[in-house]
Amino acid sequence: MLSGIMSAKILDGRIARTELAKKLDQKVATFKATRGFPPTLAIIQVGDRPDTASYIKAKKSFAVEAGIEVRHVHLKENVSQDESIAEIDKLNNDKKVSGIIVQLPLPSEIDKKTIIDAVNPSKDADGLTSSSVNRWNANKSGAIWPATARGVRELLDFYKISLKGKKVCVIGRSELVGTPIAAMCRSEGATVTVCHSKTTDLLKETLASDVIICAVGKPKLITAQHVKSGQIIVDVGINEVSGVKLDEEIPKRKLVGDVDFNAVLPILGDSGAITPVPGGVGPMTVLALFENLLDLCGKI
Ligand code: NAD
Repeated sequence: MLSGIMSAKILDGRIARTELAKKLDQKVATFKATRGFPPTLAIIQVGDRPDTASYIKAKKSFAVEAGIEVRHVHLKENVSQDESIAEIDKLNNDKKVSGIIVQLPLPSEIDKKTIIDAVNPSKDADGLTSSSVNRWNANKSGAIWPATARGVRELLDFYKISLKGKKVCVIGRSELVGTPIAAMCRSEGATVTVCHSKTTDLLKETLASDVIICAVGKPKLITAQHVKSGQIIVDVGINEVSGVKLDEEIPKRKLVGDVDFNAVLPILGDSGAITPVPGGVGPMTVLALFENLLDLCGKI
């Protein structure tokens, strides 16, 4: 940070998560006391992608701290669709399992939608079954939002940043990340523009916004020229770059976001705000997944 110059607020996801996890701990304790067993999340992994293994490791380590049980079902890369569905069905019928997620991406031979839709919507902790998508798209109360969208909303809430009436530019429109984030912003009362790889003038869109939420996966996509004083910048991107650094989200890898943090920070001024990577949206996403689980526990 530049000394002597007023600087934008850093939206620290680790601080927010530590605070919000206290409420989660209470819900876990209540569940255990009334049911006699811990809340349980089942994670279906197919194949052996190293990044998938790291994400699951991060979820498991959060769960251990929160007193939540994780049932890790690891299927081989060439598992058939029917076998995968049979495994999901066992979990659908297991009364001790309150939530199920299918860790993405899946091997290309597997039909993602069929597998995700095999999860009973009442156990859909990722909010990605067709039924859940319809519910959050329609902003139905009690809908389970995908964890990234919930994590972004709760991080902004924690820092008392409201999206109501704001112009928000969401960059990225994937089913898993950009699309639910855009829907979440609309549900919070924002006017939303969604940009993507075919957008012709990204600069114009970012400069016309109060809030920029970037979920693309390209280091330094957003530079000093894309931003102006007073904006809120939420960097969802996680990109691995060379170098070795210990980090809680993906151990032993150096991570950067989509935003050139050091170049953008001085432009934002003291009325602006920005999330760092690592330590911004990432920790909130893991928390949000388990908040979804406890919401599902409350419904059973
Ligand atoms: P994706 O590859 O599925 O989607 C990328 C999106 O970016 C697409 O919609 C594409 O149209 C758009 N895009 C590509 N190039 C662009 C450009 N030059 N300008 C504007 N838009 C462009 O990726 P994803 O799964 O949506 O993930 C996006 C990023 O978010 C990745 O870095 C991923 O690692 C990260 N991520 C972070 C978290 C978290 O908790 N922080 C969670 C999930 C994903």
